[in-house]
Amino acid sequence: MSNYVADLMAEVKAKNPAQPEFIQAVQEVAESLALVMDKYPVYRKMKVLERIIEPERVIMFRIPWVDDKGEVRVNRGFRIQMNSAIGPYKGGLRFHPTVNLGILKFLAFEQVFKNALTTLPMGGGKGGTDFDPKGKSENEVMHFCQVFMSELFRHIGSDTDVPAGDIGVGGREIGYMFGQYKKLRNEFTGVLTGKGLKWGGSLIRPEATGYGATYFAAEMLGTRKQTMEGKICLVSGSGNVAQYTVEKINQLGGKAVTLSDSNGYILDEAGITAEKLAFVMDLKNNRRGRIKEYADKYKGVQYFSLEGKLDYNPLWNHKAHCAFPSATQNEINGKDAQNLIKNGVYVVSEGANMPSTPEAVEVFVKEKILFGPGKAANAGGVATSGLEMSQNSQRLSWTREEVDRKLHDIMKAIHKTCVDNAEHFGTPGNYVNGANIGGFLKVADSMLDQGVV
Ligand code: NAP
Repeated sequence: MSNYVADLMAEVKAKNPAQPEFIQAVQEVAESLALVMDKYPVYRKMKVLERIIEPERVIMFRIPWVDDKGEVRVNRGFRIQMNSAIGPYKGGLRFHPTVNLGILKFLAFEQVFKNALTTLPMGGGKGGTDFDPKGKSENEVMHFCQVFMSELFRHIGSDTDVPAGDIGVGGREIGYMFGQYKKLRNEFTGVLTGKGLKWGGSLIRPEATGYGATYFAAEMLGTRKQTMEGKICLVSGSGNVAQYTVEKINQLGGKAVTLSDSNGYILDEAGITAEKLAFVMDLKNNRRGRIKEYADKYKGVQYFSLEGKLDYNPLWNHKAHCAFPSATQNEINGKDAQNLIKNGVYVVSEGANMPSTPEAVEVFVKEKILFGPGKAANAGGVATSGLEMSQNSQRLSWTREEVDRKLHDIMKAIHKTCVDNAEHFGTPGNYVNGANIGGFLKVADSMLDQGVV
């Protein structure tokens, strides 16, 4: 590790002692940027990375609400406004019991680089709450979203900060939050993305992250003159990103064989066809059931519980060509990475944010597989959110084909940025360095232009 990185990390660890995910995300970026700092000392002199690490603003608030039994509950809400050098803060809201300040800071930090890679003018932010929508009634979810927005509304706006969905926040929650924002402000603006199609949403936004991660995998394969045709794919998660990853894999001629939730995963060697995927979408988006039901419904499908105490995830231990981690952070550890390689996987496209631990990333980079890190591979979601913002500003709606074409072009551009920067800074084929450097340069140069603010 260079002195620059070691000194920086010592300070980051001292200042953020209980935020392991944030420290992990900064460490990875700092290691890539050591290559840039040596070549362009101005970034070091002007403490650009030191400034990016510190959020411009952190908002933390109380969310008191009353459940269906009349009991008072209290959750904690956050919005991290990380960096606005290239545009309004932009990033999702996560509703999950594991949410805390460190996790949201890691996500907001990653978002800054990701948004810069999209080619669109969006700063980085992230927010959420430790509320768990699972097992709550419709009424409780609506009431919670309204109380959450009753505080958040004063900190966001279509030119200030534009949140979207993330884990636990889909179209339903965005709808309830948008309704409350509109009531409080008495204005109809594009303050949230992921809206319903009838009230300002963009076609392809629900599909965008999964489609984008698959387009990115196809681009990586293209560097070896290969396509997705016939590729067997391991997919984790069964939410928004996982569902549309499977859809696009099918469209490009591949075969997805796994899906998971926090209880377990299914292995369907015959492939998760369009018909079976429709079942998953209904199960997860409407009936809000568990993935185990897939194995109960279809013959020849195996179900594995993930509730044991294994030191690896067996989902990553099946023969395949590609892996699309699409559930959550740190879901592939060093052992899982070894298992993937052992089973023939040579493409990993991260639909989730930071799903691979540093040990896993080290394995992928050392083995020189096609490894697309989340801030590049899953940027299609926020890119299409950016397209939703453009449509809202113009009060226009583009066609499905138009948005999909723009998404595809953006994923190709992100891929090219990664490849070019990796090469330019002496690590050809290293998408981790390529993404970190490509995102950094745009934000850093904008910060230099705007002075020390
Ligand atoms: P989602 O619709 O809520 O689905 C999340 C899926 O991951 C569910 O199947 C969930 O299972 C599983 N999961 C969540 N936390 C887990 C945990 N701790 N252990 C095991 N499984 C877990 O969320 P999503 O929008 O698909 O997001 C998935 C990932 O993609 C996240 O890392 C998110 O930050 C990232 N991402 C999303 C977008 C987007 O546009 N939505 C964009 C970029 C990146 P349970 O239902 O059992 O919890």
